[in-house]
Amino acid sequence: MNFSLTEEQRMWKDMVWEFAAKEVRPKAAELAEKGEMHWEALKKMGPLGLLGMTVPEAYGGSEMDTVSMVLAIEALGWADAGTALTVAAHNGLGCAPLVLFGTEAQKRRFLPQVAIGEKGLAALALTEPQAGSDLRGIQTRAERDGDHWVLRGQKMWITNAAAADYIVVLARTAEGRGSKAFTMFIVPTDTPGLTIMPPEKKMGLGTSHSHALMFEDVRIPDEFRLGEVGAGLRQTLAVLDGGRIGIAALSVGVAQAAFEEARRYALERKAFEKPLADFQAIRFMLADMATSIHAARLMTYYAAWLKDQGRPYTKAAAMAKLFASEMAEKVCRDAIQIHGGYGYSREYPVERFYRDVRLMTIGEGTSEIQRLVIARKVLEEA
Ligand SMILES: Cc1cc2nc3c(=O)[nH]c(=O)nc-3n(C[C@H](O)[C@H](O)[C@H](O)COP(=O)(O)OP(=O)(O)OC[C@H]3O[C@@H](n4cnc5c(N)ncnc54)[C@H](O)[C@@H]3O)c2cc1C
Repeated sequence: MNFSLTEEQRMWKDMVWEFAAKEVRPKAAELAEKGEMHWEALKKMGPLGLLGMTVPEAYGGSEMDTVSMVLAIEALGWADAGTALTVAAHNGLGCAPLVLFGTEAQKRRFLPQVAIGEKGLAALALTEPQAGSDLRGIQTRAERDGDHWVLRGQKMWITNAAAADYIVVLARTAEGRGSKAFTMFIVPTDTPGLTIMPPEKKMGLGTSHSHALMFEDVRIPDEFRLGEVGAGLRQTLAVLDGGRIGIAALSVGVAQAAFEEARRYALERKAFEKPLADFQAIRFMLADMATSIHAARLMTYYAAWLKDQGRPYTKAAAMAKLFASEMAEKVCRDAIQIHGGYGYSREYPVERFYRDVRLMTIGEGTSEIQRLVIARKVLEEA
C-alpha cells in the first residue's frame, strides 16, 4: 500500500480545492436555502475535467484515476455537499455504467456531451416507491416489441434527473427475483412518455435535486439497451461499489468543513472567562473529530487505491462508506454541540452540514446494507 500522491494528483488536488473555495463555497448557503442547483459553478466544472472524471479521454472525458476523483469529491463536499452529490452522482452513477458496459456506438453517442456538461448531466435510476435496498423487488418493466423496448413503471429519488441528457434505468425484463431478471437501458430524457416530477422537498442538500420519474409506454430502441439482457443487477452492483467510494469522500469533506467551523468557534467564543478551546471537554471533542476524519480519509483513499490497482475493493468500499458516513454525522453533531445555541441557528453553517450529511448513511446503500456486504465478505474469508 502506497498512499503518497503522485505529482499529478497533488496538482489536481490543489486546483480542485482552490476552485471549491473560490467558486463553490461562497454561494453554497444562499443557493441551498433557495433550493437551487449551483449552475454557475457546474458550468465551470466541464472545462476543468470535473464532469468527465470517469470518462476516457477518447470520449471527451478527463479520465481520472479513482484517487483523483476522491480528492475532487472531498474538496467539493467541503465546499457544498449538494453540489458534490450532483457531481458524484453524475460521474459515478450516470457516466460510469456507460463507460463500463456501453458499446462503442453508445459511448460515442452519449458520453462526449455529458463529460463536459454541454448537453446536461447523467443520472442512474434504480430506486422505486416500493423498493430501494431490495433491488430485486423493483417493478418497472421493459417489454420487447420488435427492435424496441417499452418501459412502464415509476422511479423515485433520482438525482440529477431533470438536469440530465440521459438516465440509465434498471428495469425488470423477466418475472421473479432471480439475478438475471433485470436489464439496464439508456433513456434520453426527451423520450416521449417519460415524466420527470419536480424536485423532492428534502431535509438538506438544497443544491442537489432528486426526482420521481414516471414511465408511460416509453419506447426506446434495442441499441439503447446497456449490456446483455439479464445482466442489469450484476452491472448495478459493480457501479454501486464505485459510487460508495464517492459518498465516503463526500462525507469526509463535509466532516472536515464541520470540524474547521467547530475549531474556529472554540478558539473565538469565551465562557467562564476562557475560550471554549481551553475546556478539556471541548478539546477532547476536537481531538476525536480530527482522529475519526483522518481514519475515514485513509479508508476512503485505500478503497480508491485498491480500485485503481484493479484489485477487489467491494469490502473496502463498503467499509469506507459505512465508517465515513457515520463518522461525518457524529462530527457534524459535535460541531453543533460546540457552537451551543448558535449551532442550531441558520446563521452558522454547521446546522446545514448536519442536515446535508444525514443522507450519507442512506444513499447508495444504507449503513445496514453496507454491514450486510461487509459481513458477507468477512464470512466468505473464514
Ligand atoms: C437525496 C437522495 C438521493 C438519492 N439519489 C438516488 C439516485 O440517484 N438513484 C437511485 O436509484 N436512488 C437514489 N436514492 C435512493 C436511495 O438509494 C435509497 O433511498 C436507499 O437505497 C434506501 O432505499 P429505501 O429508501 O427504499 O429504503 P428501504 O430499502 O425501504 O429501507 C428502509 C430501512 O430498512 C433497512 N433495511 C432494508 N433492508 C434491510 C435488510 N435486508 N437488513 C437490514 N435492514 C434493512 C434500511 O437500511 C433502512 O434503514 C436517493 C435517495 C435520497 C434520499
